[in-house]
Amino acid sequence: MELRQPSSVAEVANGASNTVLLAGGTELVPLLRDGLVEADTLVDIRGVVPRGIDGTTIGAGTMLAELEVDPEVPDALREACRLAASPQLRSMGTIGGNLLQATRCWYWRLQYPCFLHGGDRCHAREGVHREHAIFGNERCASAHPSDPAAALLALGARLRTDRRELALAELYRLPTEDDRGTTTLEPGELILELEVPRPEASAYLKAMDRARWAFPLVGVAAARFADGVRLGLAGVAPIPWALDSPAALESATPLPGTAYKVELARPLIRRALEAVG
Ligand SMILES: Cc1cc2nc3c(=O)[nH]c(=O)nc-3n(C[C@H](O)[C@H](O)[C@H](O)COP(=O)(O)OP(=O)(O)OC[C@H]3O[C@@H](n4cnc5c(N)ncnc54)[C@H](O)[C@@H]3O)c2cc1C
Ligand code: SF4
Repeated sequence: MELRQPSSVAEVANGASNTVLLAGGTELVPLLRDGLVEADTLVDIRGVVPRGIDGTTIGAGTMLAELEVDPEVPDALREACRLAASPQLRSMGTIGGNLLQATRCWYWRLQYPCFLHGGDRCHAREGVHREHAIFGNERCASAHPSDPAAALLALGARLRTDRRELALAELYRLPTEDDRGTTTLEPGELILELEVPRPEASAYLKAMDRARWAFPLVGVAAARFADGVRLGLAGVAPIPWALDSPAALESATPLPGTAYKVELARPLIRRALEAVG
């Protein structure tokens, strides 16, 4: 396997096919090791993707550990980063890589020929699915694992890539028969920066199996702006999930083993709304 270290964004696109972008590697390296991602060439993008926080602009190469301590960063995003993964992972893992992490569904990770891998069944629906989704789970019931993505959704963040600008919500899509992916990113497209509006108040609350170092069973972000409050949820759908109102929780479609997540989300939503006033 070849490792390329380009010195400009333009150079990233040059060269061999079958390349994969590498940032902190905390997600990608295990996927390569397990054969879930295959590549001839790794393109180390750490030298070309902006890193750091400048007002409301955050470089996609900024580590979660940097975001969790910066007072310029809205509370919801800071807290979502602080509660994610472990200190070692947050020191290596970037916000760009965090938004693009693959599902933790064990059937997918164990390479079952499930819907997301191109097959015709969701093994989790029929099998063990305690950690799985309560929304958008008709074809694939995986639960999106990113805490920061839920916070950024509530905050109404926008992304700048090397090709376009888009709302964070437009980065994600539910998998369909024709396209089993969960993002709208094109092959080789680089996320460069995030634009994160400043709310009047924001909060992130997370229910997990351990008090530290666990993926969200349910994560709830709330952000209050002059025109109202927005809610973003982690761990409840194959993609980060925007909830129009607390009442929208009643339209959840839990599986037998995930009904408890609805009950878990209810008080988290209430407490997050109380926290933002
Ligand atoms: C044990 C463990 C526990 C974890 N717990 C949590 C948790 O509780 N909550 C949570 O939110 N996350 C959790 N994570 C995820 C962790 O935060 C991510 O692994 C990390 O943020 C990924 O960043 P990275 O820079 O290492 O990405 P990489 O591994 O380098 O890349 C991940 C993916 O993103 C792509 N990519 C990276 N940067 C860009 C970019 N700028 N543009 C385009 N594509 C890009 C890569 O090609 C790759 O496909 C956990 C991870 C592990 C391993
Ligand atoms: S939840 Fe999604 S990833 Fe998991 S088995 Fe079902 S289709 Fe595959």
